Amino acid sequence: MSATCTSEITSILEKAIEGAELDRDEIVRLLSARDGEEKEALYKAADEVRKACVGDEIYLRGIIEFSAYCRRNCHYCGLRAQNRDIHRYRIPDEEILSRAKLLKERSCTTVVLQSGEDAYYNTERLCRIIRRIKDETALAITLSIGERSYGEYEAFREAGAERYLLRHETASRELYRSLHPGHELEDRIACLRMLKRLGYEVGSGCIVGLPGQSIADLADDVLLLKGLDIDMIGVGPFIPHPGTPLGSHPAGGTGPVLNMLAVLRLVTKDTNIPATTALGVLDPEARRRAFAAGANVFMPNFTPDPYTAYYEIYPGKGPEAGAIAKASDSGYAVLFEGMGRRIGTGYGYRTRKACTPETQSCPGGPQ
Ligand code: SF4
Repeated sequence: MSATCTSEITSILEKAIEGAELDRDEIVRLLSARDGEEKEALYKAADEVRKACVGDEIYLRGIIEFSAYCRRNCHYCGLRAQNRDIHRYRIPDEEILSRAKLLKERSCTTVVLQSGEDAYYNTERLCRIIRRIKDETALAITLSIGERSYGEYEAFREAGAERYLLRHETASRELYRSLHPGHELEDRIACLRMLKRLGYEVGSGCIVGLPGQSIADLADDVLLLKGLDIDMIGVGPFIPHPGTPLGSHPAGGTGPVLNMLAVLRLVTKDTNIPATTALGVLDPEARRRAFAAGANVFMPNFTPDPYTAYYEIYPGKGPEAGAIAKASDSGYAVLFEGMGRRIGTGYGYRTRKACTPETQSCPGGPQ
């Protein structure tokens, strides 16, 4: 065992595996893990916790991006209202339903209905779609449609939606304010609390590599997600879109995202953590590595052509997403089996079971 692995990182990893809370400095240290033995030890520890807490199953959650309209102007997103250079669309209800049936045939147990913040989809319209999908497919339904009122969240829940994704994007109040003109982090957090109160399984998460973001900010993201008891955590790299104010900034790297996934697994234990599409856009191999660093969810894109290429939150997503949608479930099964994993067959709700890996975190075993 090398001196590097028996150092500070090892003792922090052992503390995390034993179930002790990590403080901000310790989280910063793990997030800063360097290439080589440090990252190897971090990912191995996260993989052990993943195995003990959520098992070997990888759950497929099929996404349908049903509307590319958005009233907001997030500085990093190609769908922002002020971007006049993208094609906006709304997918007809019948087509949404037929895609939901297709993704069920392809081993997905959950449909994720995602859109910009589009007021066209009022409570009545959206509840009608939710009820039809529930009645005709019995899929678990996840909504990812932005900030709404308590009354709307309640109506969607009663109509049959059981999960909701709403990323907080960054835990830095200043950064949040600068990226989301006219909006405050507190409003986002208030929505997440409402969703928890209504009994949704709640997903949140952040972008890694934003201009002006520090590693300490990422540690605050980890602590915020843990503190809010978030059930599903999505983390993706910043990818600049030319039609946005951040279009000329460099993309975030995949390494910091993998470190973040691993730390989130160690800190939150039994949450559901996807290997995100954005990671695969930067580097398809990085998404495979994410499954060896704590991830347990895969979200294939089932948005039909031609819409999938129009849902341009960042460039390069369309072709990658299209390729995934064309893959068969047996293709996923082969891919996952090669990693010693298998497709999850249930709905994949958070189990909240107590879990402690039996082995130690350093390559080579116990010290
Ligand atoms: S990140 Fe979401 S809310 Fe912000 S502009 Fe894009 S689609 Fe709209």
